[in-house]
This record gives sequence, C-alpha cells and structure tokens, in this order.
Amino acid sequence: MLEPASFVGGEWIAPGPEAVTLLNPATGAAIARAGGSVDPEVLLSHASGAGAALRAMNIHDRARMVKALATYLDGRKEELYALNSLTGATRKDGWIDIDGGIGTMFVIASKGRREMPDGDVYLDGIVEQLSRNGTFVGQHIAVPLQGVAVQINAFNFPIWGMLEKLAPALIAGVPSIVKPATQTSYLTEACVRIIIDSGLLPDGAVQLVVGRFGDLLDRLGPQDVVSFTGSADTAFKLRSTPSLLRQGTRFIAEQDSLNAAILGADAEAGSPEWDIFLKEAAREITTKAGQKCTAMRRLIVPADRADALAEALAAKLSITPGDPSDEVTRMGALVSAEQKTDVLAKLDAFSAETKIVLTGADTDHALMAPTLLTCPDPDAATIIHEQEAFGPVATILPYRDTGHAIALANRGGGSLVTSLFTHDPAIARQVVHGTAAWHGRVYMNDRDSAAEATGHGSPLPHMTHGGPGRAGGGEELGGVRGILHYMQRTAVQGSPRLLSAVSGQWIKGAPETKGPKHPFRRTFHQIAIGETLHTDTREITLEDIEHFAHFTGDTFYAHMDEAAAQANPFFPGRVAHGYLLLSFAAGLFVQPDPGPVLANTGLEGLSFQSPVSPGDALKVRLTAKRKTRRTDTYGEVAWDVTLTNQDDAQVATYTLLTMVAYDG
Ligand code: NAP
Repeated sequence: MLEPASFVGGEWIAPGPEAVTLLNPATGAAIARAGGSVDPEVLLSHASGAGAALRAMNIHDRARMVKALATYLDGRKEELYALNSLTGATRKDGWIDIDGGIGTMFVIASKGRREMPDGDVYLDGIVEQLSRNGTFVGQHIAVPLQGVAVQINAFNFPIWGMLEKLAPALIAGVPSIVKPATQTSYLTEACVRIIIDSGLLPDGAVQLVVGRFGDLLDRLGPQDVVSFTGSADTAFKLRSTPSLLRQGTRFIAEQDSLNAAILGADAEAGSPEWDIFLKEAAREITTKAGQKCTAMRRLIVPADRADALAEALAAKLSITPGDPSDEVTRMGALVSAEQKTDVLAKLDAFSAETKIVLTGADTDHALMAPTLLTCPDPDAATIIHEQEAFGPVATILPYRDTGHAIALANRGGGSLVTSLFTHDPAIARQVVHGTAAWHGRVYMNDRDSAAEATGHGSPLPHMTHGGPGRAGGGEELGGVRGILHYMQRTAVQGSPRLLSAVSGQWIKGAPETKGPKHPFRRTFHQIAIGETLHTDTREITLEDIEHFAHFTGDTFYAHMDEAAAQANPFFPGRVAHGYLLLSFAAGLFVQPDPGPVLANTGLEGLSFQSPVSPGDALKVRLTAKRKTRRTDTYGEVAWDVTLTNQDDAQVATYTLLTMVAYDG
C-alpha cells in the first residue's frame, strides 16, 4: 500500500488519521492511503529562507539549476512510469505527463538562458527617453516576488501539472508549495522525492502537501501567488478567500474548458483536412480517457456532413477500455469511480439536448468507453455549452456557415483552445479573427502541417496555456511570459548612470571607462561593463565606394549615379553603402591577432541614420554593454556601437555580438 507523505519544513510527514483509501481505477484494488494536514506556519517560514537563497542566485544560475534538475528527473523517470498505470493512464498517456513535464522544464530553462539576462533583473522593453538631453531615462524591469508560489493541481497530470509551474517559479526565484490532487498524489510525491534526492535545489525551494494545508491561503500576502488548476467550482471558492482579495494576492486559475474543434466548410468528406480532423478528434476523446483540460468537447462541423462525420468518427472510437498496466490496452480508465459517476451525471444532463451516436459500454470500476453525441439544435442548447463531462465524451454540433461556427465556438464562454481544420486561408482568417478573443489558443491544422503539428490538446511550453472566461482567465507557460507570472514588473526612472547600475547593462549616457588595453585583448571576465574604445577616423573616398560596388556587385544607383542619387529624397548625391560603413567600422575597431575574442556572431538593432558622402570621415565608439555566460569556456559580450562622421553626427548604431573566451 502506497502512503504518499507531505514534505514540509524539510521533513517527510506520513498520512494522518484523515487519510482516505485510493483504489486502482481499472481493478478496484486498494492502492494507497493518502491525506493529512500540515502546519501552514512551517510551510511559509521554511519557504522564506529558500526564497532568499533563490534570489541570491542570478537568473541564468537558476535556469541552469532547472536544466540540471530536468536532466536528473529524466534519468529516473522509469520510477514514475512504474506508478503511472495506477492512475488509470496507459504508458502513452503517461508520456504526456512524465516526459511532457520534463520536456517542459528543459524548454523553459533554455528560454530562461537564451531570452533573459545573465543578471539579477529582467529587462522588459527598451530604455525610454524621458528627457530632451537624455539625462533622465526609464526602463521596465522585472524582479522576483519575495513570497511563495502555492501551486494547487488537478488529478489528471500529477507530474506535468507540477513541473510546468515549478520550472517558471524556480527560474523567477520564487519557492513553491505544491498541493497535488489527493487522488493521484502518490505519483507527484514520487517525483518530489526524486527532486529532493537530487540535492540540486536550495532547502525549502519545493515543499509538498498531500491533503489539506489548513489556513495557508488566509496567511498569504501581496508577494505570493496562487496558481490553481482544477474545477471552476473549486477555483471560485479558493479565489474568493477574503484575505486573498483584500491583499491583492495574484491568483492564476486554469479551470474547466468547453474546447471546440471546427471542421472548415472547405473540408469535404475524404479531403486531407477531413481525415486529420477525424484522427485528432478520436485521439482527443480517448487520450487519458478524455480527462484532459484541453480535450475537444464540442465538434463543430458543416451541417451537410454532420451525419457522415458522426459515422466515420464512431467507427474510429469503438475501443474497449482496459487495465492500462496491460501493454495491449489502448485506452485506460477514468481516475476514480467518483469521476465516472460525475461524467455519467453530466451525460444525463446532456440527454435533453443531444442524441447518442455511440455510448460508452457499461464497464467495471472506473472504466468507460468513448461516448459520441450529436446536438441537433446547438443554438437552442445551453447545457452542452456550459457543462464539462471530464471523460471520453464529445458532442457533434452542426453549423450552417462559418459565422455560425464561430458563434457556436464562442458559446463555450471562454476556452483554453479551439481548433480549425481547413486548407482555405479566407476561412482561417475569418475564424481566427472571430474566435481569438474567446480562446487562449487557436490551433489550425491542414495537409501542410499535419505531419509535424503537435496536436489540438498539447499545451506547449513555448506557447501560452490558459484562456478567458470559463477557462479561468489565467495564463501559464508561453516561454519567458510564464516566468514573469512570478515576478514583479516595475518602471524604474533615473539617470543613465544609476539605471545602468540597476540593470547591469550599459546604456547610452552612462559613464564610459577605458581599460588597460584594447577591449578585444581582454578576456570575458576582464571586460568591464562600460569599457569603451574610441577609434581613429577613416575618410571615405569615391574610389572606396566604386571598389566596394564592383567587388560586391551592389551597384545600386545611390552609390553609382550622381544625378539619380540626388533625385532620391534620402541622399545628397552618391553615398557610401551602409555595408561598406560597417566593414570600415570593423576595420577600425578590430584587433587582428589571435586572442580572447573568438567570433562575431551577429548584429542587433542596426540602423543607418545619416548618409555618408565621399570625403566624409568615419569614427567608431564601441562600449561593452552586456555580458552573458554561454558555455564553460566562453561567453557572449554585446557591444554598443555608434558610427559618427567628422561633425559628430550619428551615422549608424547597432549592437555587435561577440563570443569571448574566459581565458586567453
Ligand atoms: P478539483 O476538484 O477542483 O481539485 C483541484 C485541486 O484543488 C485539487 O488539488 C484539490 O485537492 C484542490 N482542492 C479542492 N478543494 C480544496 C480546498 N478547499 N482547499 C485547497 N485545495 C482544494 O479538480 P479535479 O477534480 O482535481 O480536476 C478536474 C478538473 O480540473 C476538471 O474540471 C478539469 O477541466 C480541470 N482541469 C483544468 C486544467 C486547465 O489547465 N485548465 C487542467 C487540468 C484539469 P484534493 O484532491 O485534495 O481535493
């Protein structure tokens, strides 16, 4: 018998007297005793120390820690698969939960390192010029919240549900208190034990509550975040906690969702899009026995094809569910007998508005076969647009035209995802414009993307997961966006010098310093932010311009034809190529000998600001702007580069990216 423990204040706490017995949903055998209560004061005080330890690390250090943790979990994931089938899930279902959760950690960790600074604060947007002479500027930054992330998860994804919240919170620098659904808590507990074994996280960065956490929510404040996944009823109850409302505690909710899938009017029977729709719909109804927050619930199809589609889909859905520990089982069980009772009650409620195409055979325990319904009058129907049967159930809704399909999709009152199967760009445009405001994600698939499309029901770490209205109004994931849910955005104003000290990056107007030697002779760690090189000048001649034109083949008239160039509103006459100026700039600032600078990897934000005529003289200012560790041996140095002419007028600006060795 499994006895999942809570992990609170660094101690494992066994189930208490209030523990309930959990049954294997496929066989009815008792598998675990789970539940208890914990001291919220211990949870919060232990988390507070971890918060300080996390904030003492910088963003990239935390992202590296999450990557290391994902690697460690990946090495021990078979321990999780060993328990997976007890939840009713097949190995394939478990892949979404276990490998999907670990994969999400890898992606978020990688985005944290590639898209966030190797520093203490995240910079959001550009430096805003707030004064005429540039002595007073502004910058939005994001810093870690100084509280705790309370993560309350649903039963259906005991691993992914935890890891997709934990990774962003850790990278943000916020400790987590994880509360899984009791029904599948033993799987989350096994994962938390592996996380603790790894020794990779500061003490208290993750705590686990199996059961109830007392008055924890009453003790939260403005620096805390509650991130909830589950039913709308529980979300409503928890988010209405008076102290959360009073204190303005962030509450992110991912709840019930009546997701729609639209078959485009162009998708005739037998077309590639028809086949893709059938394949995806069958997969959505059967994966995790339909217990996926993103599963297709309402299938919105052209009225003239609704019967044919119902017949074709029913044929694909004649699957007998079974014990998921048996390798031949294609579809497992609902999570519990109570969940099955709930689904059957919803089917009862739907019966006034729907007809049965395929009914789930009355099977034992929490097993339930796919059930397909049609709703002949979807305009008059209400329950089908308002209640979620969280099981292998979907309903076909016939539509008259694309506008009608859009209206039906939006009747769900806000969803996590709606999908469209069409090859017609005009339909794609109409449907996305008509539905996007009501759905957190719009997924399109057709013959061009089918081989690589990730599936209607897959939330991806790169893309936001959440939805308006009935779906809870929350948002998670979406790359760096998901990390920012655990950070505070603050507008900082001041002089360039002070702002540069805050952000750790040089900004125009901040002091320039001179190093002991050419900056390209300095190693990554020696280069100081603000270190600047002012080059000699170089005159641009007409011969240079002609030579460059013939050498490269760029004989655009502005460089070659005086009269035509003069007629152009941008040029006083023949001018130098922008790329010639960049090349001359490199010639002015480069240090030719082998040294710490390994490569030039790109330019960012290039703009040419004034034309350069023959006889003009060019000079360059190159300032170390930002440093980012990349590997064990080298990092990226970004240089702020400004080209000016003999009158000190700005000719071009850009950020030059170089890879610089740590030693050399
Ligand atoms: P649930 O009954 O609402 O439970 C969700 C979580 O809330 C569980 O961890 C539960 O713990 C906890 N909880 C319930 N009452 C609580 C209380 N008074 N104080 C603190 N925690 C409390 O939902 P579920 O049955 O687990 O999940 C199914 C629902 O989740 C479906 O409606 C589905 O649509 C939705 N869902 C949504 C998403 C999404 O991303 N939008 C994802 C998955 C599932 P106990 O188990 O210990 O009661």
